[in-house]
Parts: sequence; C-alpha cells; structure tokens
Amino acid sequence: GFKCGIVGLPNVGKSTLFNALTRAGVPSANYPFCTIDPHVGIVEVPDPRLKRLAELAKPEKILPTTIEFVDIAGLVAGASKGEGLGNKFLAHIREVDAIAHVVRCFEDPNVTHVAGRVSPRSDIETIETELALADLDTVEKAWSRASARAKSGSKDDIRMRELLERVRSHMNSGAPLRALDLGTEERQMLKPLCLLTDKPTMYIANVSETGFRDNPLLDEVRAIAEAEGAVVVPVSAAIEAELADLEGEERQAFLADMGLEEAGLDRVIRAGYALLGLITFFTVGPKEVRAWTVRAGSAAPQAAGVIHTDFERGFIRAEVIAYDDYLRAGGESGAREAGKLRLEGKDYRVQDGDVMHFRFNV
Ligand code: GDP
Repeated sequence: GFKCGIVGLPNVGKSTLFNALTRAGVPSANYPFCTIDPHVGIVEVPDPRLKRLAELAKPEKILPTTIEFVDIAGLVAGASKGEGLGNKFLAHIREVDAIAHVVRCFEDPNVTHVAGRVSPRSDIETIETELALADLDTVEKAWSRASARAKSGSKDDIRMRELLERVRSHMNSGAPLRALDLGTEERQMLKPLCLLTDKPTMYIANVSETGFRDNPLLDEVRAIAEAEGAVVVPVSAAIEAELADLEGEERQAFLADMGLEEAGLDRVIRAGYALLGLITFFTVGPKEVRAWTVRAGSAAPQAAGVIHTDFERGFIRAEVIAYDDYLRAGGESGAREAGKLRLEGKDYRVQDGDVMHFRFNV
C-alpha cells in the first residue's frame, strides 16, 4: 500500500490524530488479510464520486479505496545521534512514501511542550534538522564508497561522487533535499539512498477548537509552508477525537455546532492522497462500485494489475469512460451510445476518475 508517515515532536497530538483516523476509518472485516500493526492504520479515502456512481449502478456494495497512515512516534532532538528511539524512528520514516508533519498550534498549560514553549518555527526546525543530519550521514557514507570506486575511473562512480558533493553542500546549508533542483536522472541515482528530506511533506497544524482563525501559531506554519510550496491542513485533533465516536445525525449536529462543513480527517486523508501523487479510477458493476488507486502517470496495464496480477499479464485493452461522461450519459449504456466509451491500449495513461473495464487473456 501507499504509506503516509505521521511525524512530529512529542505531545503535539500525533497519537490523538492517528487514533481518530483509524477509529473513524475502516471496518477491519473489509481487510481480513492485513497484518495488524498498531502503528499502521488503513484509512478509506472519502470520495463523493462513489456515491454518484452508485446511484446510477445500484450495486450491492460500495468500496472506497484506501491509504495507510503510519504513526511514527519517538522523534526528539538528537534522534540522528541515537537519542530516544533514534535510529528505529528513522528506519520507520525511510519506509513511508510521504510525510505528514504534525505541528502543535494550540496552547494548553496542562500539556507539556518538550521545548518549554509552543513555537511552530522552532519545532519544525528541530524535526527538519534531525532528518537532515540523518541524510547527511547517509550521503557522507555513500560519498566515501563512490569516491573509493571513482579512483578506478568508472564514469558512473565519478558522476555519483560529484552529485553527492552537490547534495552535501546543499544540505550543509540546512535545506532539505526536496528543495534542491535536480534532474530526473539525478533523482534516480539518489533513490537507493532513501533520503528522508526528499520525501514529499505536508504540515498538519493541530489547532485548538477556536484556533482556525486569527491564530498567529497557524500563520507561522502557513508562512513556512508557503516558502517551501508545501500544503498546510489545519485540524483540531481534540475535535476529531470526539467526532470519531459519532455517527449519522449526531455527527452532523456536532459538525454544524463547530461551524465545520466536513471532518478535518477527510481533509487530512485527501491531502495525504494528493501528496503521495495518487489518482483514482473506478470499476462499476451490479455487484460493486469500487475505487482503486494508482500512481499518477500509470499506464492502463498497471491499473489492471492493481485489481489482479493476471489482468496485467494478460492485458488486451481497457474500455474507458471519463467520470463526467459517465455521469452525464446516466451510466455505461448511455455513454456507449453517446460514443463516450473509448477502447484504450497498453500505452494509455489512466486519468483521475476514469471508469474502467479490462479485457484480458488468461
Ligand atoms: P503525541 O505525543 O504527539 O502523540 O501527542 P498525543 O496525541 O499523545 O497528545 C499529547 C497530549 O495533548 C494529550 O494529553 C492530548 O489529549 C493533548 N492534545 C492533543 N491534541 C490536542 C488539542 O488539539 N488540544 C488540546 N488542548 N490538547 C490536545
């Protein structure tokens, strides 16, 4: 699955948020084969298009797609030197595809702040510094290897050494790797190093119940994020924890009472999905209407392979209707009559919202 890691200093609200995500989340009966790791939560991706499709197709079941959130506790200043859970923590971050950095933007005298005061800028710097130091360590080791090998004169090793020197001097200035302008090939060369500061990152600003507006702490996070071109999702973990226990009318009433249109978790999940670079395609039938996930830019056979490896191996072609066409034509047969059903081959790039049906050889 695609994984988004939740990081942040202690006591910023990571676990509160993670627990709300998993509780609101998924009836585990839907995913019987998934291993139960308490730090990994499978979360359904809210998508209003599923309901529209189901109104037309009237299936027995509606199945949303999912992503995984991983609660990565234990980052403290000094982690890169092995403080706290140090190395274990860093190893967990290496395994995720994107990072959601929770930043404390609420004051509460009852909740201790590890640095003694609430300061988003210094909290963000603390975390970024640890990740950057860990990366510098990795880069230094890789540089030693490349430079030893470069002595025998292989072109690739020389290029790698030079690239690592550029990366090192960039990161020595304190900047994350994702801020360095690199070509596709250079990114590819660095990929095996699994550098932490290269992962797409967003900020989750954990605000108090009244902290969505006129909140200098939130503004501070926004300013930092804007400079990096990163997304900020303001939520109140405390509100989400309460919401996660409510359903139906009670839930609507609570949201209305708080002046909110939707649960903050929905925004967190959607932002995570976008951050991971994912798009959704649908399969529609009388048994089920279902959303599936592929990386943006995937070709049709890869999408087929998400459903079943046989579909990918024996891929012949895909029947594709764009979501808007499907809706406008009132379903598949209407879309077919309107000439909106396309036959696409193996080079077709799947578009977000495609309603797909695969033809394959077994
Ligand atoms: P973590 O260490 O980052 O996982 O933080 P926790 O989720 O365990 O939260 C630390 C403490 O802060 C707990 O006592 C939470 O109840 C409290 N907390 C979390 N979110 C909020 C919030 O939005 N407002 C307030 N006032 N307290 C919160």
